Amino acid sequence: MTNTTKKNRLKNIHCSVRFAMPRLRVCVIGAGAAGLAAARHLTSELDAFDLRVFEQASRVGGTWVYTENTGIDERGIPVHSSMYRNLRTNLPKEVMAFPDFPFPSEWSSFLSHQQVLKYLEDYASHFYLYKYIQFNSIISSVRPLMGKDSQKPLWEVAVTDADTKESQVLLFNAVIVCSGHYSVPYVPIIPGLESFPGLVMHSHDYRHPEIFQGKRVVILGAGLSGQDLCLHVAKCADKVYLSHKRAVLRCILPDNLEQHRPIACVSVDGTVQFDDGQERRVDAILLCTGYKTSFPFLHDDCNIQVRNNRVTHLYKHIFNTKFPTLSFIGLCYRFCIFPRFHLQAQYIAAIFSGRKILPPEDMMNAEEEKDFREILSAGLREKYAHFTLDDKWDYDNAIALLAGADMLSPHYKDLHKHTFHRREHFLMDYKNDEFILTPDGMWKTV
Ligand SMILES: Cc1cc2nc3c(=O)[nH]c(=O)nc-3n(C[C@H](O)[C@H](O)[C@H](O)COP(=O)(O)OP(=O)(O)OC[C@H]3O[C@@H](n4cnc5c(N)ncnc54)[C@H](O)[C@@H]3O)c2cc1C
Repeated sequence: MTNTTKKNRLKNIHCSVRFAMPRLRVCVIGAGAAGLAAARHLTSELDAFDLRVFEQASRVGGTWVYTENTGIDERGIPVHSSMYRNLRTNLPKEVMAFPDFPFPSEWSSFLSHQQVLKYLEDYASHFYLYKYIQFNSIISSVRPLMGKDSQKPLWEVAVTDADTKESQVLLFNAVIVCSGHYSVPYVPIIPGLESFPGLVMHSHDYRHPEIFQGKRVVILGAGLSGQDLCLHVAKCADKVYLSHKRAVLRCILPDNLEQHRPIACVSVDGTVQFDDGQERRVDAILLCTGYKTSFPFLHDDCNIQVRNNRVTHLYKHIFNTKFPTLSFIGLCYRFCIFPRFHLQAQYIAAIFSGRKILPPEDMMNAEEEKDFREILSAGLREKYAHFTLDDKWDYDNAIALLAGADMLSPHYKDLHKHTFHRREHFLMDYKNDEFILTPDGMWKTV
């Protein structure tokens, strides 16, 4: 027998084994970028998976679906999106794109939220994902039902119709949680905040700067949102006080902006005192203080706890160590987000299909603990447990290797770094940069 005939025979045996196996019933929660990446990779193995995606909204895109609404929507559901009207992306499209689906070449490098949404809709159409998505469907509960195999329970999933509120219970072999983590505002305890006479708003509810027209505004927090929103708000506000605990921003900032230490307390007359004792009388406080990770639908039996935004018992930030058929996409932050979803989704597909295997539970727990200790030794707090530090590229490479997938092209790391540097030094200008990718897998400024 020639080598080619042998190979073909083996291929056929492999295929027939696959078809003889029952397909794994997989439930994906959410049709934002993470859920779409999961669907794209699992539907490329339809002989292995029987997939259903449940999305509470009436369209794909998750947080990129801009709405003027805040609070509770017309269906009685908390508004999910944190997009604001004039947002432009904080990363260029060259490093935001899924590696197998570039953004249109005629678009600028830094995109509007409308463009990102259109891109995600196009991704869903291109990979024929719509037929797997059930819209207006809220996952209200996920619970393991123990059978013979204690590591592979059946998953009892309750789905509630967003309009009628009727629920049905479905059974799955595996669940992928892609519900996002930028929609439940985190509000720190600030003495006196409840009696502040002016407007107090979290960035989740911020839509446009006109609401601050002529006002004196404290923006609390100088993470990505705080840094971006201070520029938007400064266009309308009389004065902006950017209050934060980071090193003082050294780049050029709007003339009507002052930087201050974190807020110590707030008085009933509208005075805000910073922790160095300085005081300013203000009309509004905009909290750019981040979000709480929350999975209200996960039953206690799922072996998942969330403490200070740390989701415990996860291997590689993805697989539940006790029940690996419960997995997560998108918990890590500070990286090229869509490309990482692309890799995590492929790793999940490889594990669920049996092409790759996970280490035993105790080894996964030990590795999780080791990673967490490293975060603490780097001086970070528990809430940064899913921060992949400087090894974020090692993480991506490791996931690609474990998944048997292609590694990311080198331009992702390089241009991501460059963008960080540009933002640090030229906050007001960096979004005017334009890049193109070069044939050697790198990039250049145009
Ligand atoms: C203001 C802002 C600016 C950002 N800017 C950038 C940027 O410039 N570049 C970048 O790369 N990233 C940016 N991000 C990060 C952004 O969150 C990610 O890019 C990515 O879109 C997250 O995708 P996701 O699928 O994990 O979550 P989401 O987009 O939040 O999607 C989660 C989906 O799950 C659904 N869902 C939630 N709970 C349930 C349930 N119980 N049942 C059914 N469905 C459910 C939601 O309706 C939603 O559609 C930004 C985020 C914010 C908030």
